[in-house]
Amino acid sequence: MKLSKNYSLKTLNSFGVDIKAKIYADVFSVDELKEVMLANELSNLKKLILGGGSNILFVKNFDGIVIKNSIPGIKIISEDDKNMIVESGAGVVWDELVQYCVDRNYGGIENLSLIPGSVGAAPIQNIGAYGQELTNTLFELNGIFIDTGEEKIFNNSECKFSYRSSIFKNEFKNKFIITSVKLKLDKNSQVNLTYDPVKEGVEKRHIKNPTIKDIREIVIDIRKNKLPDPNEIGNAGSFFKNPVITKKKYKVLKKVYSDLNYFPVDRNNVKVSAARLIEICEWKGKRIGNVGTYNKQPLVIVNYGDATGEEIYAMAMKIKDEIKKRFDITLENEVNVL
Ligand SMILES: Cc1cc2nc3c(=O)[nH]c(=O)nc-3n(C[C@H](O)[C@H](O)[C@H](O)COP(=O)(O)OP(=O)(O)OC[C@H]3O[C@@H](n4cnc5c(N)ncnc54)[C@H](O)[C@@H]3O)c2cc1C
Repeated sequence: MKLSKNYSLKTLNSFGVDIKAKIYADVFSVDELKEVMLANELSNLKKLILGGGSNILFVKNFDGIVIKNSIPGIKIISEDDKNMIVESGAGVVWDELVQYCVDRNYGGIENLSLIPGSVGAAPIQNIGAYGQELTNTLFELNGIFIDTGEEKIFNNSECKFSYRSSIFKNEFKNKFIITSVKLKLDKNSQVNLTYDPVKEGVEKRHIKNPTIKDIREIVIDIRKNKLPDPNEIGNAGSFFKNPVITKKKYKVLKKVYSDLNYFPVDRNNVKVSAARLIEICEWKGKRIGNVGTYNKQPLVIVNYGDATGEEIYAMAMKIKDEIKKRFDITLENEVNVL
C-alpha cells in the first residue's frame, strides 16, 4: 500500500480547492482498507474517507490521513420475477452504476442519473433528485467501523434515512466506512414522473410510453442545462438543504412572496426552496472575487478560479446570515465542511 505525504487534493474535490492531506492512501479492496485502518503507525491520525470529493468543502489542510475509497466492481447477487439485487463496490462512480442498471432495464435509480460522486457516499446523505432517493432502492450495505475494524451490514431501516441524511451523517459520522452497497431494483419498473421538469421532458419529446432509458436521458439533459459541470467550474452542488418550516410560517411568507412554493413534509411542516429564498435576497448570480452563486441555480456556490475554501465558506455564511435576518430561517449545510 502506497502512502503519500503532504498530498495535494486539488483534483480530488469538486470545488477544486488547493489543500493538502498530511497522508494520502488510495485503497482498492476491503483488505487494503483494513490494513490502513489498523496500522499502528497511523492509529493516532485523524481519518477521512474520500469518494469523489463532490460534497466536501475543505477550508484548511487535512491534518490526518485521507483514504480514497476506490473499491471496484458491480455484480448481480440474486434475481426473481420482479427484482434484481445488484451489489456495487463503494469506489464505483455512482453514474456508472446507474448506467449499468438502466442498460439492463433494472429500474429505480434512473432519476438519480449524473449525480456526481461514488457509490459509497450515496447513502451518507441519501442522495436524491427528481422524485427518487437512494432509500427507495437501498437493500443493504456493508462496511467497517474505523476504530475497531469490525465489519457490519446495515439494512435499509438501520440506515435511518431521511431528507439528505442518514445514520452515517449523524451517530456514525466519520466512524463507519461503507465498502459496498446492494440495491433492490425493479425489472418491470414504472417510470417516475412526479417531478414536473421530467414530465415536461417526456411531453416535449412526444414520448407515449417512456422507458427508464428515456428518463435517464431527460434527467441528464435537465442537469446539464441547470447545473454547472464541476470539471469546468468548481462547485459541490446544492450548498444548503431546503429548509423545513411550519405551515403557519409558510402562510405568512406566502402572503409576501406569492411565488414561494412548498413541498409537503408532514401535518405541521413544509419544505421550501432554499434557492428561491436566496434569489429573493438578490444573491442569484452574485460574485465576490473568485466566488459566486451560479446564475441558473443560486443554491450552488461556485469557485470561478483559485478561491480558497475559506473564501467559499465566507460567502456561504453571508448568505446564511441574510436568510436568517430576512426570514428567520436557519439554513443547514448540505455540503460537508472540513
Ligand atoms: C454538480 C453537482 C450536483 C449534485 N447534485 C446532487 C443531487 O442532485 N442530489 C444529491 O443528493 N447530491 C448532489 N450532489 C452532491 C454529491 O454529488 C453527493 O453528495 C454524492 O453522494 C457525493 O459523493 P462523493 O463520492 O463525491 O462524496 P465525498 O464528497 O467524497 O464525501 C462526502 C461525505 O461522505 C463521506 N464518505 C464518502 N465515501 C464514504 C464511504 N465509502 N464510507 C463512509 N463515508 C464516506 C465523506 O467522508 C464525506 O463526509 C451534487 C454535487 C455536484 C458537484
